[in-house]
Amino acid sequence: MTASRHTRPDLSRLEGASSLSAVRTSIIECEQCPRLRSYCKEVGRIKKAAFRTESYWARPVPGFGDPAARILILGLAPAAHGANRTGRVFTGDGIGASGDFLMSALHRAGFANIATSQTVDDGLALDDVYVAAAVRCAPPDNRPMPEEIDRCLAHLDREVEQLPNIQMVVALGKIAWDAWFKLLARRGVDLPRPKPAFGHGAHTHLALSSAPPLHRCTLIGAYHPSRQNTNTGVVTPRMYDDVFRLARRTLR
Ligand code: SF4
Repeated sequence: MTASRHTRPDLSRLEGASSLSAVRTSIIECEQCPRLRSYCKEVGRIKKAAFRTESYWARPVPGFGDPAARILILGLAPAAHGANRTGRVFTGDGIGASGDFLMSALHRAGFANIATSQTVDDGLALDDVYVAAAVRCAPPDNRPMPEEIDRCLAHLDREVEQLPNIQMVVALGKIAWDAWFKLLARRGVDLPRPKPAFGHGAHTHLALSSAPPLHRCTLIGAYHPSRQNTNTGVVTPRMYDDVFRLARRTLR
């Protein structure tokens, strides 16, 4: 991992730690969406043949990364046999799948110390990046219902409150992009009209709240690194390198 070329207040790591821990606990214990909770538990009970000897996490998955991060990466939701199995976001969804694709891009960009994300004890550490999902429970067919997205945003809102240096959000996919606008609407932020369109590399500067430190952020869109996209060339490593180069250039 490259050394950070910026100065960030160390206090956030200390002051935010216990509160971020409390937010994580509240996420893990959440049972507000009966459909999703049942599905996650059922997936964990039946299991995939390759993981039949493992105990699935089968609970909501909190975010992961650097509490002093300036960049929040926002995904869609845990994969049924990935994060729903391992308990860490973008972890264990298969060799070369979305977790590995994302981490290898972060590794090339100097934000991650290793280029894979397969197990929770792999030593992966993120620098200046925190990764979370719009929805914390794996949804059937990777399709959360609108009311489930809305409900789960409260967790993201509280998590972001404990990440005081965030100044950029990289939304992986349109659902994450739209979820960020919904979160801002929840906060009563005046949204631009028309709403900026999602696209790979699309970016816009937004107010996050009326007061510092979370008062401004840049939103960058990226196509989701699902196998469907990466196997078909819709998403390539170079496209992700471009996104994180843009992120580096835009950081204050
Ligand atoms: S999706 Fe979010 S709000 Fe719904 S049960 Fe899971 S953690 Fe709770």
